Amino acid sequence: MVSSEQSAGLIASDGGAREADESDLPRAWQVLEQVMDPEVPVVSVVDLGIIREISWVDGHLRVAITPTYSGCPATELIESEIAKALERAGFRAPRLERRLAPAWTTDWISAQGRERLRAFGIAPPAGSTSKRSLLGEKDAICCPHCGSHDTEVVSQFGSTACKALYRCRACLEPFDYFKCI
Ligand SMILES: [Zn+2]
Repeated sequence: MVSSEQSAGLIASDGGAREADESDLPRAWQVLEQVMDPEVPVVSVVDLGIIREISWVDGHLRVAITPTYSGCPATELIESEIAKALERAGFRAPRLERRLAPAWTTDWISAQGRERLRAFGIAPPAGSTSKRSLLGEKDAICCPHCGSHDTEVVSQFGSTACKALYRCRACLEPFDYFKCI
């Protein structure tokens, strides 16, 4: 869906005029803010909260990434987009590390990320980490189109396994809900 070319133009690259060093760590964050989630192209990997740490080790940038939903097929794609974006911005051979613990939670999605999800027509995860949803308690999911809480689940699986399909009883529009984990 979303191509890396789209974000490429936004990355301020110095064209490899000089090699990146430790002082470029803040720039590495800026680069990653332009790398979008392939499944939700309005939300960056930084918004998603999957970038846990960026450090400088032995002359290379090291990026610790915690995948969202385990087994989400997008993970490898996201990692390759991250590596490509960093290399284009002058970070040679960045080292990507998967950090599986603690597990990613929807709580790590930034406020900006939630706002972008809503603007894109996807209801952001409700409330804080709710293992509540696992216990079967119902969260009132807010319709991203009209704001009504009068919504119902249509299917536990929306456009991707990470989302559920809902319908708003007020405006009758269907929408994806980013599942809470
Ligand atoms: Zn609605």
